[in-house]
Amino acid sequence: MQRAYVIGSPIAHSLSPAIHNAAFAALGIDARYEAVEVAPPELGAWVARARQEDLLGFNVTLPHKEAIVHFLDDVEGDAKCTRAVNMVRAVESPSPQPSPARGEGVASHTPRGRRLIGANTDVAGFRRSLQEEADTSLRAQRVLLLGAGGAARAIALVALQDQANQLWVANRHPERAQRLLDDLGPVAAATRIEAMAIDGSGVQEILRQATVIVNATSVGLRSEETPLNLASIEPGTLVVDAVYNPPETAFLLSARARGVRTLGGLGMLVYQAAEAFESWTHQPAPVGVMREAAERALAVGD
Ligand code: NAP
Repeated sequence: MQRAYVIGSPIAHSLSPAIHNAAFAALGIDARYEAVEVAPPELGAWVARARQEDLLGFNVTLPHKEAIVHFLDDVEGDAKCTRAVNMVRAVESPSPQPSPARGEGVASHTPRGRRLIGANTDVAGFRRSLQEEADTSLRAQRVLLLGAGGAARAIALVALQDQANQLWVANRHPERAQRLLDDLGPVAAATRIEAMAIDGSGVQEILRQATVIVNATSVGLRSEETPLNLASIEPGTLVVDAVYNPPETAFLLSARARGVRTLGGLGMLVYQAAEAFESWTHQPAPVGVMREAAERALAVGD
């Protein structure tokens, strides 16, 4: 049986095992996905062990999304820009070749299990959720992004790659928002960018100008808090929450009460999982099955 994992700390609330195991079962794939609690000092040893298994790959969540890079063989695609890896795919190492310099039978390198390649599927997951569930993209939009962590990096990259007109990144620690924009700056050719404090005096004015507002802070996760007062929001704005537990956050409820369109984070979660699944199995992901499994797991967990 092949293996896949999600590693993080804490990891108990992860929906990923339910999502992926439902997908493996639906397609008759002999594989098992498990959540594993891995503390930061154990990360390197865990990865070394996983390389030796019959591994499809693994997901990476807090607090390892940046540190994991040190234990991988390569990083590809959007993860190079975001500097955050949320998915690793395992590929067979080439068989050891005889070394021409030292004669037959001598391995040119020590076999050490599978090669591990890091990627970021949150970027594609967010973009696909916007397209499929809200029938829109960030192209030419004025985007107010709340947060500057891993999820915010992925969403900011979508805004820049898809040529948003403007991207404001507002964070509790504004210097982290500035760092995010400094890192992603090279992608920002067509987009005006600005970092600010989430509680700064200018944010309510920006709320009036924004066409899309995205919460990528962890505020609202299993709580009734909201990251921002939406008092000055304009009709026609789309409000998105990356938080998916609860599926209808207090932030989305307050947006809905002001008559604007909303989109929750469950779609992003399912589509990022679908990207990972397809990369591991080379089969189309059963997205409907994965979404139902996520909804069931959320309902049971609450
Ligand atoms: P992270 O890297 O730890 O970043 C957390 C962010 O939340 C930072 O910007 C942090 O601000 C901010 N924050 C935390 N507590 C705050 C508070 N009390 N007031 C204001 N800001 C606060 O986490 P992440 O990985 O980006 O995840 C953020 C959220 O997105 C989580 O709820 C996660 O479940 C969700 N998420 C969803 C998906 C999906 O597929 N839907 C994918 C990834 C993440 P500072 O920098 O100032 O500390």
